[in-house]
Amino acid sequence: MTKTGESHVAPHDHQSCIQHALDTAANLCVKRGLNLTPIRRRVLEIVWRSHEPIGAYQILAELAKERDKAAPPTVYRALDFLIEAGLVHRIDSLNAFVGCGEPSQPHIAQFIVCRRCHRVAEIDDPTINALLTERSREIGFRIEPSSLELKGLCSDCEAAGS
Ligand SMILES: [Zn+2]
Ligand SMILES: [Zn+2]
Ligand SMILES: [Zn+2]
Repeated sequence: MTKTGESHVAPHDHQSCIQHALDTAANLCVKRGLNLTPIRRRVLEIVWRSHEPIGAYQILAELAKERDKAAPPTVYRALDFLIEAGLVHRIDSLNAFVGCGEPSQPHIAQFIVCRRCHRVAEIDDPTINALLTERSREIGFRIEPSSLELKGLCSDCEAAGS
């Protein structure tokens, strides 16, 4: 079985998710004149290891196993770049990162976080995005890359009776 590392996503060929994410990132960066350096690409690949959020320390631990060790500031800068480019979302309440499935359109990420198992799902509804952007403009704000985090219970935790 492909290492997906998550139970809430239906079994699938996760290797192709990773490949798709990396290809999309490469194309977007070329289109926008951004430089997807090897370390940025590698960090993105690690974030995409599964659909679960990953902490910066886990990313560092992963890189530490490799030949070209990266210093923490390098990794944090790579993450900043990936977030700014919309390729990765930061989930503040978990202090963790997750790859964006739809990075072509810069958007406000809409997450539901399970308060019990910390499982995360992205809603990614363009209607909600458009509405938030419009309402924000009306009150004089321009939204920057950021995430909405809604708390709840996933179906497994709900079934387990929390
Ligand atoms: Zn996948
Ligand atoms: Zn997204
Ligand atoms: Zn849960």
